[in-house]
Amino acid sequence: MYYLTRQIAFEASQYYQIPELSDAKNFELFGAAANLNSHGHNYVLEVMVKGEADAYNGMVINLVTLDALLKTHVIANYDHKHLNRQHPVFAKNPHLQPTSENIAIEIWERLAPSLPEGLLHRVRLYENSTRFVDYYGEGLMVYLTKVYEFSAAHRLHSHTLSDEENRDIFGKCNNPAGHGHNYVLEVTVKGPVEARTGLVAGLNFLDEVVEKQVYARFDYKHLNLDAPEFEALNPTSENFVKVLWEVLEPNLRPVTLHRLRLRETPKNHFDYYGESF
Ligand SMILES: [Zn+2]
Repeated sequence: MYYLTRQIAFEASQYYQIPELSDAKNFELFGAAANLNSHGHNYVLEVMVKGEADAYNGMVINLVTLDALLKTHVIANYDHKHLNRQHPVFAKNPHLQPTSENIAIEIWERLAPSLPEGLLHRVRLYENSTRFVDYYGEGLMVYLTKVYEFSAAHRLHSHTLSDEENRDIFGKCNNPAGHGHNYVLEVTVKGPVEARTGLVAGLNFLDEVVEKQVYARFDYKHLNLDAPEFEALNPTSENFVKVLWEVLEPNLRPVTLHRLRLRETPKNHFDYYGESF
């Protein structure tokens, strides 16, 4: 089985607005995105298809064919359009918000019937570089990822090992004075898109939880010295991503935390799905 991804981009404008609510209520729900004068995004769409390579041409799908479908089903409806006013589905349904969640589902529903059964695997839509959604054709279930960056110092050092063993195992990362990283944390939550808002989670909800549970504890801190979580725990990224899960997961409920990806440097990242996976 092969998985191949094709990327395209489109630019569109929109607003989020529940017609029967007052302006104040809409701003409470959607923040600046409720502005009826509109806002816009450079969307980046990644379409992933899966299948066996064709015996004659060695391809899962001819990219020329896929590009033509993307042009008809996506570009024609989305690029340089105002989604609330010009999109064939969103313009007719003022109660369907043109959120990234709903756009990903709409694109899936448009593309899937034009492709051989089972070929479409995932639609990923980037609203910007720090917010994207994944849709796998599972009813209303959408995966939402937000990307956060923070800075912290640490020293890899295990209290159960001798100083010499620590130096041997952790090398320069055992430097007694520590070193630091710009950590990048991807928080992926999953859930059904709420019909009223078109969102998996409130627009600012993840930011608020990350601010309190991650930034307040770890941003511009020395993990070994400032964070009680690492008083006796070696702050490797494996241990760190688990600590992050433990502070985030209960505070995100009822939203379901699906995955944390912790990027320690551009060269390495660590994924954690909770203890059960
Ligand atoms: Zn380090």
